[in-house]
Amino acid sequence: MPATISNNSIFNQLEAFGHTKVVFCSDPDTGLKAIIAIHDTTLGPALGGTRMWAYKTETDALEDVLRLSKSMTYKSAITGLNLGGGSAVIIGDSRRDKTEALLRKFGRFIKNLNGEFITAEDVGTNPRDMEYIRMETQHVTGVPESIGGSGDPAPIAAKGVYMGIKAAVKELYGNDAITGRSVIVQGIGHVGENLVRLLRDENAKVYVSDINDERTRQVSKKYGAEAVSNNSIFDLSADIYAPCALGATINSQTIEKLKCGIIAGSANNQLQDEALHGQMLLDRGILFAPDYVINAGGIINCYSELMGFSKKRTLQLTENIYEATRNVLKLSKAENISTIDAANKIAEKRISDIKKVKSTY
Ligand code: NAD
Repeated sequence: MPATISNNSIFNQLEAFGHTKVVFCSDPDTGLKAIIAIHDTTLGPALGGTRMWAYKTETDALEDVLRLSKSMTYKSAITGLNLGGGSAVIIGDSRRDKTEALLRKFGRFIKNLNGEFITAEDVGTNPRDMEYIRMETQHVTGVPESIGGSGDPAPIAAKGVYMGIKAAVKELYGNDAITGRSVIVQGIGHVGENLVRLLRDENAKVYVSDINDERTRQVSKKYGAEAVSNNSIFDLSADIYAPCALGATINSQTIEKLKCGIIAGSANNQLQDEALHGQMLLDRGILFAPDYVINAGGIINCYSELMGFSKKRTLQLTENIYEATRNVLKLSKAENISTIDAANKIAEKRISDIKKVKSTY
């Protein structure tokens, strides 16, 4: 007799998100509590980051990994990569709980998936951690260049975001020149700082904001950007708002306040609710360059590492983000649908087309 399943059961969540497999990893000896979610492997092995975060509840951790892994499926699909979507989360404080043993144990769980899941760094993990995972499994990317990896993906990720910004500027203003445009960069970490550099190189007027005041001061001085307080971002008039910190900064409250024509940044899952807030942005005439389309530089870097591509090829693939963004914006306009719906449509079509190829000789 089938088990009774409540509406918010794990299986119902997997069905709603469309996942194929979720692995719970537990090891009391090292303190490891992790979840690996494999969303879809039609296009190739599921590749995605491992995030280490002190989640308040296990439910929060599960929800995060389901969302992250699904967006990886769409990101790789729309970028034209032969990769599926997956992600992992380790529950814990990365500054306090991370040890070599914990990471290596986690590596063994990945090893047991026989290549179905390949990981990389994400919030709370870094290339050194990938080296530990590599000691137990080859199914890891983003290891340091010194041991044959592709190194820090942030400059490439920022380049992709920059190409996405240019594509959105072209759509709104008819030409893609960045010179003289004003951009608010929220979150000036690895990607944010590289983006500020690219924008300032083209004489954009850049406002920077970070919860870390020292960082805000440093980056603003180094690149000649104007420091603004995190609270005032949504009161500021600018051409472009580039969220480069955490997700869900676009919600019903912020959309009401926003005074910019374009949203284009690196943060994953920027819309708190895809359907609702995608539509609200369309209604307000704010052009949203979908996050997973324009922040694909990081995964392109990992893909290049797997395929043994040169830096030149990595850069070419990253520059293609311009065209990918243009295609999304054109479809959104042609069908009067939100840009996130347009992106989803393009990604889903590629997956279903390739599924047909794989089901035939
Ligand atoms: P990071 O940790 O280096 O930088 C994040 C910065 O945001 C930090 O300086 C932090 O202080 C700041 N921050 C955090 N919360 C904030 C808030 N509420 N307001 C303002 N600032 C805040 O991370 P990163 O590698 O630069 O990544 C930034 C975002 O881009 C993340 O959402 C990440 O998932 C996404 N992303 C990163 C890559 C990559 O290659 N690193 C690739 C694709 C997407």
